Amino acid sequence: MIYLNSRLVSDKMANVSVYDHGFLYGDGIYETLCVYNGKVFMLDQHVERLFRSASLIRLSIRKSPYMIKKALYATLKANRHKDAVVRITVSRGAGPTGLDPKLCSKPTFVIFSKKFSGYPSRYYQKGVSIAIVSTRRNFSRSLDPQIKSLNFLNNILAKIEAEDKGAFEAIMLNHRNFLAEGTVSNIFFVRDNALFTPAVKVGILDGITRKIIIDLANEAGIKVKEGYFRLNDIYESQEIFISNTTMEIMPVSKVDDTKIKAPGKITVLLQGAYKKKVSTYIKERVSNEHK
Ligand code: PLP
Repeated sequence: MIYLNSRLVSDKMANVSVYDHGFLYGDGIYETLCVYNGKVFMLDQHVERLFRSASLIRLSIRKSPYMIKKALYATLKANRHKDAVVRITVSRGAGPTGLDPKLCSKPTFVIFSKKFSGYPSRYYQKGVSIAIVSTRRNFSRSLDPQIKSLNFLNNILAKIEAEDKGAFEAIMLNHRNFLAEGTVSNIFFVRDNALFTPAVKVGILDGITRKIIIDLANEAGIKVKEGYFRLNDIYESQEIFISNTTMEIMPVSKVDDTKIKAPGKITVLLQGAYKKKVSTYIKERVSNEHK
């Protein structure tokens, strides 16, 4: 079942207009969330970011955060999904052709979920490969990467380059050749026992997983440096990993043609801390339900 606008419908009935500006112009926003044992991880943070993206494109979602959370759990219940990935999509809606947002009177709101219980374990045991690609991450003053938008061609072009090179993920630099992020992930590297990751102001999405990792590293006494880094910094690192909501912390074993030991010591430590964070979060939500 799919939640479309204000009700659950079967996927056959979940049709969106060919005049939808999400389809015509990529005019819209989305969020991807992970569900563990029936509980949506970091739900408030994802809904907050959905509203931030909406505000940055001046889109009125016309639903409260509470309504969205209710719709999300209704979708999970209808599909009996306990371990799943959920996507919330909001587009500008259907309207005459033309770029003016006022042409669309009502946004299109969709939630769908699919069963998911993680990537194959060999990805975590052996690591994945990344390729540094020539496609640059969108310039913040053209299309701010902080907007989680439906307009994904920047990332898709980078992904095509990674595919051509046989790599799992593409890593993009920004327009000034500073290390930015992956097509669907943030990047971290370790040097001399300190953890490095590009600063948000480089022009990246401030990943929810990224923030958790920074907090966990700080709690573990690992020095964290957010900043502007060059390609050499990554080639000279001892550990690399990428992160997002569904991958969590995924070790990298190859950057272009350079091999790197995976998973490294700090990566493993953070993976353990992340698992613990997820299980505490889920347990707290389950126990609150019984109060
Ligand atoms: N960067 C980009 C471009 C993404 O699309 C994503 C997630 O899909 C991320 C980073 C990671 O964000 P999060 O940790 O919130 O999933």
